[in-house]
Amino acid sequence: MESESLKQYLADSPPSIVPLQIKPHFEALSGGEKLYAHYLSVACFAGTRIVLRQISPESEHIYDFIIALHHYFRGDWKALQKEAGLSDDELAAFLDYSAQFLGNLGNFKSFGDSKFVPRLNERQLKALAAVSPQTLEIYEQIKDGVFVNKNVGKMHLGYPDQGHVSTYYPDSPDITKEEISIVSDFLEGKKLLPENTRLRKTTDGFEVLIASALENPGSADRDLKESEWELEGKLKGKKLKLVFGDYTKEMSTIAEALQNAKKYASNRTEASMMEEYVKSFRTGSLEAYKESQRYWIKDKGPEVETDIGFVETYRDPHGIRGEWEGFVAMVNQERTKAFGKLVEAAPSLIPLLPWDKSFEKDKFLSPDFTSLEVLTFAGSGIPAGINIPNYDDIRQTLGFKNVSLGNVLSAKAPNESIPFIKPSDLGVYQRCRDAAFEVQVGLHELLGHGCGKLLQETSPGNYNFDINSPPISPLTSKPVTSWYKPGQTWGSVFGAMAGSYEECRAECVAMALSCDFGVLSIFGFGDGSEDIDGPAGDILYAAYLSMAHAGIAALEFWDPKARKWGQPHMQARFSILRTFLNAGVEFCELESNAEDLGDLTIRLERSKILSLGRPAVEKYLQRLHIYKATADVEGGRKMYDEITAVDDWYATKLRPAVLSKKTPRKVFVQANTVIGEDGKVELREYEASAKGMIESFADRTYI
Ligand SMILES: [Zn+2]
Repeated sequence: MESESLKQYLADSPPSIVPLQIKPHFEALSGGEKLYAHYLSVACFAGTRIVLRQISPESEHIYDFIIALHHYFRGDWKALQKEAGLSDDELAAFLDYSAQFLGNLGNFKSFGDSKFVPRLNERQLKALAAVSPQTLEIYEQIKDGVFVNKNVGKMHLGYPDQGHVSTYYPDSPDITKEEISIVSDFLEGKKLLPENTRLRKTTDGFEVLIASALENPGSADRDLKESEWELEGKLKGKKLKLVFGDYTKEMSTIAEALQNAKKYASNRTEASMMEEYVKSFRTGSLEAYKESQRYWIKDKGPEVETDIGFVETYRDPHGIRGEWEGFVAMVNQERTKAFGKLVEAAPSLIPLLPWDKSFEKDKFLSPDFTSLEVLTFAGSGIPAGINIPNYDDIRQTLGFKNVSLGNVLSAKAPNESIPFIKPSDLGVYQRCRDAAFEVQVGLHELLGHGCGKLLQETSPGNYNFDINSPPISPLTSKPVTSWYKPGQTWGSVFGAMAGSYEECRAECVAMALSCDFGVLSIFGFGDGSEDIDGPAGDILYAAYLSMAHAGIAALEFWDPKARKWGQPHMQARFSILRTFLNAGVEFCELESNAEDLGDLTIRLERSKILSLGRPAVEKYLQRLHIYKATADVEGGRKMYDEITAVDDWYATKLRPAVLSKKTPRKVFVQANTVIGEDGKVELREYEASAKGMIESFADRTYI
């Protein structure tokens, strides 16, 4: 491979290692809740080897290699360096790689699915391995997989017959996409769910490997009575067989931990949920798993929240097999209180938005939304929010949970650099951006997504508005002329644009209402009186600066080849930055003297937020809202395409500047819980460094 293209596969140097702060929230739990959280955490992390095996053939061995080196010198990496005869830089390269590896639970990035390799050559890595016979033995198993593969296809996850890597199809180098499809369709016809499976091609057919502690579950515990078939059609003559007991050791550990957790459940719903988890992980039944999810939804607002299993299917090239993940989190009491007050105040806040009540629901319904602080997140990466279960039949009948993960969103590396913010603004920005973000999230999720009405002909001849005297559009000052026809929905009319457009509407609601000092006082900032220079004004200023900053950073997620946005929230934020800039240089400007924009900063006039910023946002929000309410997809598309279009200056000047200042993706150092001699659970925290991260994994001896 050319050295230029090789560069993109090198491990981050250094990675952005951040601590996942949880202590005060964990300490607020009762003794029983701490035990419940402890056993759940063990269950989550006990699936670590499952994730490793789902990513690449070498990942589990690389994991063992890192942990074995840690144990061999009891965490004294300096001693190891000396023994191996490596330089400081070489040791640092190995530690950096290890931290990124553990943060992604494998040697492929969880965000992007491309492989990353250590900034070391074979000789240097082998010198580390040579310190003990055990590590040397493991080295033999990783040496072919840990470095760059000359075949670029193998540097990415994907279908094996397209030259990529996927261990959802283990030991099956010649399995084809077509064979995977045929087998999947066949099993779908049999109503066997695929999330906890892998598929292996054998000499006479295919084996469906099912994750379960038991290798031969009783027939009453199986989702299907049959377990062997002869295939027809294109695969005629081939056998298809269900094989239980994939990850058997891990699934046993997980089931046992959940059995223990059940003893400390807070209510019967949680106990029943644990029972169904245990049943599913012992027997491989996904029907039992779905039952656990039904209980999970009924367990409303628990002190300790959790979900665990084979959930998201992004990394299986076929998109149906789930990666192991599990989290344990606790409610942030203060924030929950503020969100509750916000929902209570909704009837007086919504009229502040730039439309009258004919474009609003009769009664405000707050969307399901909770903000949690994460104790444990096992998996290949930690998302900023979760919206599960993915099973549509459960979502439609029982609903779902929409959760934002507070301490994940606010996590920062100790010395994180902040580009594009003026030195004179850095103080207030650093001090207030977390609080501003909290206000923003609450307003966005609860009032943003919660407000608004779709004008609709609900069934032929019936309307949810007065058809004889239709609402007056604030855009034209004339009666509206369009609405949703029977059977049409927001998604069916606005199509692919709907997601980003709605995120933009919610963000704009947040930007408009955060200008209200009464709202800021609900969150504990100021006394409700208007004072742009006071503490509440600081929060408002930080909120506007953050949005402008996010609008610039968003350019990373615009694809110059396809000339398209890849991330709905980022597209929305870019359009809000444009809205600020369109309000005029009296309000906002991007300032730079350097040709490469390396010195670019945001100038946003704090004293003009209320007089220029807010009206500009409200004007944009009004259009977003009315086009949506009236099913005016043409008007909506024209406006949104225009304002999110990335012109030459943004594409060829600002975007490269953004990329050059990009910090590596965060990896999180998580605490462990341990039961002390007195039977009480203690929280053990680790240094936010590669060494601390390795130690945290090494202490999980049950993995
Ligand atoms: Zn949203």
